[in-house]
Amino acid sequence: MCKTSGNIWRLRAKSPTVIRSLLGLIEDTLPRSDMTMAQIYLEQLNHPAYESHMPIHLLPDSRRAFLRRTLIAGAGLALAPQLSAAMRRTDANSWALLADTHISADPAAVKSKVVMADHLKAAAREIAGLPRRTSGVFVVGDCALSSGELGEYEQLTRLLDPVRDCGLPIHLALGNHDQRDNFRAVLDANPITCRPVADKQVALVQSQSVNWFMLDSLEKTLQTPGSIGADQLKWLAETLDANRKKPAVLLIHHNPGEDKKIAGLKDSAALLEIIRPRRQVKAWFFGHTHNWKFSQDESGLHLVNLPPVAYVFREGDPSGWIHATTRHDGMKLELRSINPAHRAHGQIVDLKWRPRE
Ligand SMILES: [Zn+2]
Repeated sequence: MCKTSGNIWRLRAKSPTVIRSLLGLIEDTLPRSDMTMAQIYLEQLNHPAYESHMPIHLLPDSRRAFLRRTLIAGAGLALAPQLSAAMRRTDANSWALLADTHISADPAAVKSKVVMADHLKAAAREIAGLPRRTSGVFVVGDCALSSGELGEYEQLTRLLDPVRDCGLPIHLALGNHDQRDNFRAVLDANPITCRPVADKQVALVQSQSVNWFMLDSLEKTLQTPGSIGADQLKWLAETLDANRKKPAVLLIHHNPGEDKKIAGLKDSAALLEIIRPRRQVKAWFFGHTHNWKFSQDESGLHLVNLPPVAYVFREGDPSGWIHATTRHDGMKLELRSINPAHRAHGQIVDLKWRPRE
């Protein structure tokens, strides 16, 4: 703990218990007159839920004080909502899965009768307020409204701040409405040498019960179909072979393509050839079609179409996000609709993993 200047205090600790006692110490020692406008910055040093060995984005930055609390004299130390969230226990098996946020630079922008920023705001508020913190948040592509302008990513970052302020890492994938250079300019400070596939945005996030593989299927901005490409497929096969023991789940913006009219992933066949025989791969999650649904292929692989956070293509479908709870033999999915009155709100889907052999 240190006092940086004036009434600004900086707390750095690994555990919420330590942070709590440091706050108590400040309250006890600070002269009452100084408490009028003291600001406390809280930094959590480690995120204990998992390790990530690949580039990720929007981590709760250790350089960025992610909490600020203004204390009013005599008001005691009632905790700000973000502060209490940062002190909550993290559930190592809990994850928030989002797709198709379609954020405009203009927070008031409307498409298909939906104010996209309001939808993401509602999802972020709910994620930040969960009684036990999730381990992390995935946004599976089409982060931006249409063509991936810098302003769209800047707005997206602002809307995700409440989630970051709770200390949650956010991993973002690219879709056909994203633009790689602009995305990287705003969201990804990782130097190119840190990227496992130089020109792609891929990540392996290793957690207690699942290895998450986030792949990059953006082929060309504003062109509907997508592809993974040979380099990324090679990386995926090698990385899966090096990580055989734990169940693996893929997060790719594009849906499995179909032979006749391809609007999804063009190299689906090559991808399936890699993942079907590698029995540790249990599921492929995707967005793109803005249509919440789930199925299983003949190899037992789960194919899960995430709902859009933003607008749906077919009236009556739900907009929302998925609260996923992982375990060693499967995953529970709960649909959190932006409209809590939607009939699908709270729907639970229990995925059982296909056997190893
Ligand atoms: Zn989309």
